[in-house]
Amino acid sequence: MFELSQDHEDFRRVVRDFAEKEVAPNIAGWDTAAHFPTDLVPKMGDLGLFGLVVPEEYGGAGDAGDFTSLCVAIEELGRIDQSVGITLSAGVGLGINPILTYGTEEQKQRFLPDLVSGRALAGFGLTEPEAGSDAGATRTRAARDGDEWVVNGAKAFITNSGTDITSVVTVTARTGTNEDGSPQISAIMVPSGTPGFVVEPAYHKLGWHVSDTHGLTFEDCRVPSDHLLGQEGEGFKQFLKTLDDGRIAISALAVGCAQACLELATDYAKSRMAFGRPIAVNQGVSFQLADLAVMVEGARLLTYKAAWLKDELHAGKRSVKEVKQAAAIAKLYSTEAAVTATRIATQVFGGNGFMEEYPVARFYRDAKILEIGEGTSEVQRMLIARGLGLPA
Ligand SMILES: Cc1cc2nc3c(=O)[nH]c(=O)nc-3n(C[C@H](O)[C@H](O)[C@H](O)COP(=O)(O)OP(=O)(O)OC[C@H]3O[C@@H](n4cnc5c(N)ncnc54)[C@H](O)[C@@H]3O)c2cc1C
Repeated sequence: MFELSQDHEDFRRVVRDFAEKEVAPNIAGWDTAAHFPTDLVPKMGDLGLFGLVVPEEYGGAGDAGDFTSLCVAIEELGRIDQSVGITLSAGVGLGINPILTYGTEEQKQRFLPDLVSGRALAGFGLTEPEAGSDAGATRTRAARDGDEWVVNGAKAFITNSGTDITSVVTVTARTGTNEDGSPQISAIMVPSGTPGFVVEPAYHKLGWHVSDTHGLTFEDCRVPSDHLLGQEGEGFKQFLKTLDDGRIAISALAVGCAQACLELATDYAKSRMAFGRPIAVNQGVSFQLADLAVMVEGARLLTYKAAWLKDELHAGKRSVKEVKQAAAIAKLYSTEAAVTATRIATQVFGGNGFMEEYPVARFYRDAKILEIGEGTSEVQRMLIARGLGLPA
């Protein structure tokens, strides 16, 4: 597979056009104000971006969409701004995907149409103050009391969890102990506004200023027993599977970041004069741009190979193991390439690269989280090593 289908490329142009018209003119102001652009979300919904992997009965694209299209959309939004890209990536991968995959028909009918249209967003609360890479160390608890679950605990760094249109956050919680003594973890949906569900003030972040991120606290928070997502005790496995898809999406976001850096730095190097000639004539500059082009190409190929495998898995033609390995490889390579790309681009811009008027400064701040979220680079290396059959 060396190129995407014509349909995918046509779709890319539609999303690129949207990002250049709706996001690019506003993004610097939104970023400075750390403003979450609530009004943009339904416009993304109108374009069908939240429904690319969702069946038609819930308002999605059905057979007309696939995971590759979602990656194209995330890459193109991410090429203009990473925060807007992660709003889509998390909105689908962490918000919609678990409900679609594990929800009952009633749960899907209740939440998905609004999430797909962009009238609502959902979050996914796995990480806790004491449980990140070691996500199984979850301390949040949910106890049954009659027809209700009573949730107590805290989650950290949860994307899309506190916007004006957030309708629900799915959280992992201990609901008992397995026979081998390990905690039994389940997934529970907590609608926004439920008494005892406290959205903490937004974090003051290095980057992703336009993305919504909050800590969450649950204090005797009661939800009906039918808010359990999937089977009791299956929550941890469900979330690990959810993260495999999320990693490919983050890889696409990283491709968008690296692509933007390549374009911005190449244009700048051709026009910026030093010593009476464009800086691009110096091999010290042009070789860095050549390296950047190689990274973009490599990251894109790995990302779309993983996305294609994911679509093949959906069609029953590939194994979960194969997709898991491809996702970890793509995420590791692309995110590290994106961080390097922002460093090269900022260097090419010289002092201007340190100024917020130039988008490379924002990409530089935004890129670092790519190596951390949805599994750090170290976690990806652990997964890849495990995929090679090496002892855990
Ligand atoms: C802006 C933002 C948005 C986020 N959105 C969400 C979200 O929507 N939902 C959600 O659940 N989480 C979210 N996260 C959390 C994110 O997934 C975690 O921060 C990430 O998984 C790392 O966990 P941690 O921060 O606890 O780091 P830790 O697990 O404490 O790791 C610290 C360092 O130790 C390293 N390390 C840990 N264990 C090992 C090991 N065994 N071997 C080698 N190195 C190791 C890590 O790689 C890392 O470098 C978000 C985070 C941020 C910053």
